[in-house]
Amino acid sequence: MADLPFGDRADFDAADRGFVAALSPAVVRANGSVVWDSDSYGFLARECPDTAHPSLWRQGQLCVKQGLYEVTDGIYQVRGLDLSNMTLIEGDEGVIVIDPLLSVECAAAGLKLYRDQRGDRPVTAVIYTHSHADHFGGVRGVTDGSVPILAPSGFLEHAVSENVYAGTAMNRRATYMYGPALPRSPEGQIGAGLGMTTSTGTISLIPPSKDITHTGQEETLDGVRIVFQLTPGTEAPAEMNFLIPGRRALCMAENATHNQHNILTLRGAVVRDPRVWSRHLTEAIELFADRAEVVFASHHWPTWGNENIVTFLARQRDLYAYLHDQTLRMMNKGMTGTEIAEAMRMPPALEQAWHTHGYYGSVSHNVKAIYQRYLGWFDGNPAHLWEHPPVEQARRYVECMGGREGVLAFARRYLDDGDLRFAASLLNHAVFADEHDGQARSMLAEVYTRLGQGAENGTWRNFYLVGALELTGGVVPADIDTTSPEMIAALTIEQLFDSMSIRVDGPKAWNESLAIDWRLTDLNQRHRTTLSNGALIHQPDPRPRPVDLTLTLTQRQLIGLLTGGSADGIEHDGDMDVLRRLTAVLEDPDPAFAIVTP
Ligand SMILES: [Zn+2]
Repeated sequence: MADLPFGDRADFDAADRGFVAALSPAVVRANGSVVWDSDSYGFLARECPDTAHPSLWRQGQLCVKQGLYEVTDGIYQVRGLDLSNMTLIEGDEGVIVIDPLLSVECAAAGLKLYRDQRGDRPVTAVIYTHSHADHFGGVRGVTDGSVPILAPSGFLEHAVSENVYAGTAMNRRATYMYGPALPRSPEGQIGAGLGMTTSTGTISLIPPSKDITHTGQEETLDGVRIVFQLTPGTEAPAEMNFLIPGRRALCMAENATHNQHNILTLRGAVVRDPRVWSRHLTEAIELFADRAEVVFASHHWPTWGNENIVTFLARQRDLYAYLHDQTLRMMNKGMTGTEIAEAMRMPPALEQAWHTHGYYGSVSHNVKAIYQRYLGWFDGNPAHLWEHPPVEQARRYVECMGGREGVLAFARRYLDDGDLRFAASLLNHAVFADEHDGQARSMLAEVYTRLGQGAENGTWRNFYLVGALELTGGVVPADIDTTSPEMIAALTIEQLFDSMSIRVDGPKAWNESLAIDWRLTDLNQRHRTTLSNGALIHQPDPRPRPVDLTLTLTQRQLIGLLTGGSADGIEHDGDMDVLRRLTAVLEDPDPAFAIVTP
């Protein structure tokens, strides 16, 4: 840490470059409640205290800068008014919006800030660079959908699917990752590395009107020619970069930002592929680098100068390739994920570049993700094949260490020696053996606080500090909900039935057997769901055969039924009691499940 180049202020110069105006006060409200407050991070102007890692503190100072910035002639960015950036490209008649933030209210505030400075230009098109909600959720703050909306092929399916299958679990874990319940203070939340945090306003979704389907595709929007590079399977399953040749400006979406990104985000997701990610960065350099004088992305600040751009992109490329290849090399020598994470050393030139540092992703958890991608959860050691679950294991460990007094004494010893990692393991066993043990809980909270405040990674810090918070104060209910009515409306019928299948309480449904045909009049589709052995099977376009119940309804009525509405007004043929028997075995997910306690 001591040899990090704190004297190099180039990032601060870049983050300030082109500053036009700030939002003042930097607070965005929705119906009276605050959905974004950048001013609450004013304390970051101070020197780094000993309750934070200096490298993360520095990243917070950079990310907290907010306002309207000129990127190059006719291209502006609104930064620091949500987790992500909104970019505005001026065309012949108006302005093209790239990535309208996460919330409608923040996007509207960003557009107003732009218009106050640049005139009341109409929005003439929108581009979604990829399928994550912080890049489309605010779209209704900038348009009603009457303009062209471009997105990479597969956008809509991926934009909504994450929220269907594991959405509740991801949202709960996201409250640990971003730490909205933490105080914003030198001891608490100081950012998430990628940006400060997520806004908490209204999430909208307008489906794209045009897909980008291949690399090299060119489109002209409002007189602005744009050349696209499709990059599926990188930071998001549907993502794209693009060049604006007339402005010599390159947009890298979220594929090259000023941090090491996640191969596997800590809230949970399908593991990403760093090999593909690196290859797309190579391709971007080949396709675009010699035609660009500035590169910008939907997080962080731009990089100017052709030579700087090539160096920046090449280091990002090498970063993901190195992590991938070295993990595989060590895997093939028999090392496991935790061992590789401990052994991995990064090349000095990458260590010295701030933008490869793990503020959001980390070497440690990315290496384990790569191991997981190729080999899965099992490290091959039969001792780990059939371990007890946490509570059962905790009871036994506590017993073996002489009961709780023994565990706490050992924990104090490791804590005093500075081995916080093992102290956390011991105290976690104590809490899982007896969740009412107040002393164990407060000691573990102390350990988590110290681990969090020592972390260079923003999301690690938040995870540890929220763990400490919940150990002492109980579960803090989530205020992040990434499912909005428009996102539910964008689900495919298959995704809708899948969302029902994953709510079936298996054992409760063991002895149920029923078949329902669903005729969707507005879509002119037929679907069949069959419940047997606790599994609800969905079949599109089934062969005619007798079923227990046939429902004739619209897509909207189907969504109503699945979200707990009544069956009033739905035409039926057969026994309506069958529908009641089906809904009786559906269980609601728990959005406030325990994490640091059993
Ligand atoms: Zn993003």
